Amino acid sequence: MVDLNQTTARIVAVYRERYELSYKQKTLYGKLKTSVYYGREAEPFPTVGDFVDILEVEGGDCQIIKTLPRSTYFTRLDPDPGGHREQAIAANFDTVFIMQSLNQNFNLRRIERYLTFAKQSGATAVIVLTKADLIDSPDKWIDEVECIAVGTRVHAISIKTGLGLDEINKHLKPGETCVFLGSSGVGKSSLLNYLMGEDVMLVKEIREEDAKGRHTTTHRQMFKLPCGAYIIDTPGMRQLGMWACSNDAAGNDSIDDPALNIFADIEALFDMCRFSDCEHQSEPGCAVKKAIENSELDPGRWESYQKLKREALYTQNRNEAIRKKSERNQHIAVWSRKRRKNVW
Ligand code: GDP
Ligand code: ZN
Repeated sequence: MVDLNQTTARIVAVYRERYELSYKQKTLYGKLKTSVYYGREAEPFPTVGDFVDILEVEGGDCQIIKTLPRSTYFTRLDPDPGGHREQAIAANFDTVFIMQSLNQNFNLRRIERYLTFAKQSGATAVIVLTKADLIDSPDKWIDEVECIAVGTRVHAISIKTGLGLDEINKHLKPGETCVFLGSSGVGKSSLLNYLMGEDVMLVKEIREEDAKGRHTTTHRQMFKLPCGAYIIDTPGMRQLGMWACSNDAAGNDSIDDPALNIFADIEALFDMCRFSDCEHQSEPGCAVKKAIENSELDPGRWESYQKLKREALYTQNRNEAIRKKSERNQHIAVWSRKRRKNVW
């Protein structure tokens, strides 16, 4: 290995303080350079899928000195209440596979939620309904999902019978990166093992009656498939908490964004309310209330829309508060430095 040679590598796994990196098909390990990542204008902590600049160090872990700009990423807020940084969970992916199984886990509201996250990230979403062997025919389910996910490809698959797996393969292009988004037990590891052609992930046997399973912890990982595509499957992706999803390029971070088109049916109703500032609660002439009464709008879908709006607002407010706090800290730091130097 060359001493102090700067190159770009990709993060394939994150351990506590150590990162596994891939560089020209080689596996390296690295640690963050403290002055860069914990300084005043700290670099964002790298996550799986990130491209980072590294300095190779002879005989030891390399030093990670920069997180390169991300094309897409998922973040969640730091679970530590005192924490004030967003945590990225996966970065630089092209396609999000939203996975849900055709058993008790099936839930249109959850698909809407995942779809919102996926589209906000700027990546292409593909919906995968797993375990199709457990039901008679997936067509009815596919239709239902297509109704709430207009314009998104929906596939039903079964690892047991091989149904739909060719369709999945068509989405996997050499050099592109995909992420799996779905609750524990929906079959992410099983699909990954199938695509890899070998068992790289432990499949947790679960009882289909109540979808309960053993919880196994896995490390965040990124896998290179034989076809040349990459799959990110991280435990972080399994926890759907309060998420912010961003797309650097487009800066889309609102579920109101018309380009996302997920709740276009609901948003079209807003224009039909009698009052332009209608809050859709108990105002007369509210088109939303009317649509629910006439069974044109599913109350569950309306509930889901409102919940996502509240979360988006909460995240936005919290991010704003974090930004202000860090600006204030910077001002204080500059002020005390100046004072130390007797500039004032
Ligand atoms: P993960 O938690 O999303 O990674 O899910 P796993 O891949 O570990 O699978 C959870 C359970 O679902 C295991 O018992 C698998 O054997 C089962 N499973 C996965 N795919 C299929 C499928 O296509 N059909 C059926 N019937 N079971 C499946
Ligand atoms: Zn209204």
